[in-house]
Amino acid sequence: MLPIKSLSIFCIFMLCSSFSCFGEDFRLDILSSKNMKIIEGAVVYDKSSRTAYRSNSAGKVVVSNDFTELQIKAKYHTPITINKDSLSSNNIVMQHNENFLTKDQALQHSKKNIQWGTYGPLRANNDLLNYDLTLRVDPEKKFISGNNKIRFKMLSDDNKIQIDLYENFTIEKILYNNTALSYVRDLNAVIITFPQTLTKGSIEEIDFHYSGKPMATGRFGCFTFKKDNLGKDWINTACQGSGSMVWWPNKDQQPDEVEGMTMRISVPSDLKNISSGRLIATNVLADGFTEYVWQTYNPINNYSVSLNIGNYVHFGDTLGELTLDYYVLEQDLAKAQKQFQQAKPMMVSYQKYFGEYPFIEDGYKLIQAPYSGMEHQSAITYGNGFTNGYLARDWTGVGISMKFDFIIIHETGHEWFGNSLTSNDFSDSWIHEAWCTYAESVYVEDQFGYSDAIKYINGYKEKVTNEYAMIGPSSVGHWPTSDMYFKGTLFINTLRHVVNDDEKWWAGVKAYTTQFKKKNFYTVDVLNFFNQYFDYDFEKIFDQYLYFNELPQLQLVHDSEGVKYRWQSNVDGFDMPITADVAQESIQLKPTTDWQVLPSIQDLNQVKIAEDKYYIQVSNISHLAKEHLLSNN
Ligand SMILES: [Zn+2]
Repeated sequence: MLPIKSLSIFCIFMLCSSFSCFGEDFRLDILSSKNMKIIEGAVVYDKSSRTAYRSNSAGKVVVSNDFTELQIKAKYHTPITINKDSLSSNNIVMQHNENFLTKDQALQHSKKNIQWGTYGPLRANNDLLNYDLTLRVDPEKKFISGNNKIRFKMLSDDNKIQIDLYENFTIEKILYNNTALSYVRDLNAVIITFPQTLTKGSIEEIDFHYSGKPMATGRFGCFTFKKDNLGKDWINTACQGSGSMVWWPNKDQQPDEVEGMTMRISVPSDLKNISSGRLIATNVLADGFTEYVWQTYNPINNYSVSLNIGNYVHFGDTLGELTLDYYVLEQDLAKAQKQFQQAKPMMVSYQKYFGEYPFIEDGYKLIQAPYSGMEHQSAITYGNGFTNGYLARDWTGVGISMKFDFIIIHETGHEWFGNSLTSNDFSDSWIHEAWCTYAESVYVEDQFGYSDAIKYINGYKEKVTNEYAMIGPSSVGHWPTSDMYFKGTLFINTLRHVVNDDEKWWAGVKAYTTQFKKKNFYTVDVLNFFNQYFDYDFEKIFDQYLYFNELPQLQLVHDSEGVKYRWQSNVDGFDMPITADVAQESIQLKPTTDWQVLPSIQDLNQVKIAEDKYYIQVSNISHLAKEHLLSNN
């Protein structure tokens, strides 16, 4: 979708649990000094092997037993370092630190959102295999009814699972081997009980029947019954940020995707329905409705499942084996035929940098919709008015956005970043949005050159607030703020220039999209990949940019010894290399948190930091240094 303290290091151990260490692995439990609550999403870092681990929703983390020292960091807590030799317990209690409180923590997370955002035991006990959704959409009554056959494999013995559906719907029945199951509704969660324990490894199927009037909610309305400009029905879904459970029952979370999905959507016969995947059947029904059967042959996010019902006409193209299919309202066909010509060269650029289109079996589609756009997998929705820019505006304000259609380029970028590579938790949504925003600039670089790409990325600086960290609170269904798009892409541009070797960078980007193709993962997995692939320790850089709202500050001072420079940042020992023009010669500086000096340089004007390559704050603090010297006198 679109949109300073130096830390002392100390640690506290609890002596209440027995010490556990299982051969190859070592288990830790991460707790907060505040009410001894477990901490999810703490980053445990083994610097010697450059490996990061993340504590799970039970606060547990299993690390390789080889470590001697571990650094542990968690939002709103003072970082600590532990040594294996002096470790007396597996319980690590981190000191809650008010200095790290930011507004996102002050948000109230409703029970509904926590229920939605938590990958709890009644979700984790099963692995989704398939959805087979049959739905009748009645525009006149604004009413939907149908059933979803949900097939899954049990991962542990249990007699309950959680399925999600908005509470405004009626559940007709939930069948299991043709008998009705009992269930309890708790807000939007449906806790289903089986007559006996389902055993680990067994393949099961339930058939969930429901009906009701879907509510219009969220940024794009989620499920809207609209009319096109000729007065014909136009019905669309777009529910990222609100939950796909707003219109159909499913296990509504991100870590687990079905392997494939069938959608059997019946609509009045003067309309068509376009969804993800391939149209495998069109069945004219006796009552004036027609059923469109779409089959998806790839794993798919719940929020990528969509309906698009309207007076659609089709045109298409191919790119090698890949089909490019376009569905637009009849009256907009000519405009679309012109504007959608951008899709093919874009696809060539994206495949060059990110690898083959991930969903060839399902094809690529652009489907006109009454909102700006959404990355529905293999069925990108488009509502940018068939004009360049973003809703005809120069989106990054530097004269480049008007060269292309922002929605085609951005939403299609999500086929790689979001649909193929998917974050497990909303808190890590920069994996979707920062990378997809970066994809825009990759397109710009391939089509118009490096200098336009750098200009385009830096145009995003205007939109960054630096008010909240890019990584939000875990497991609460909270979508982080827009900095994950704009600051996120500036962060990735910074990484590129830290690597400082374009050939290696682009090979690394392709290796990243290949290694995580169709996978669901966390930020620590991205860090581990970068550390390993580029043979460099990115931990402090990831920490500063993703977990803090402030930028690292490069301080410069001019005094009698020359020009001095150092980093000031939230992260202890921050040491990111940068390039600068010094006396008109491009050199690499390796600033640390200690002052270093360029002795032969007597004028700050002779030092030009490459601020378009690194998103940093550069501060001349010479006046402070002078005041400091004066006060010392
Ligand atoms: Zn997006």
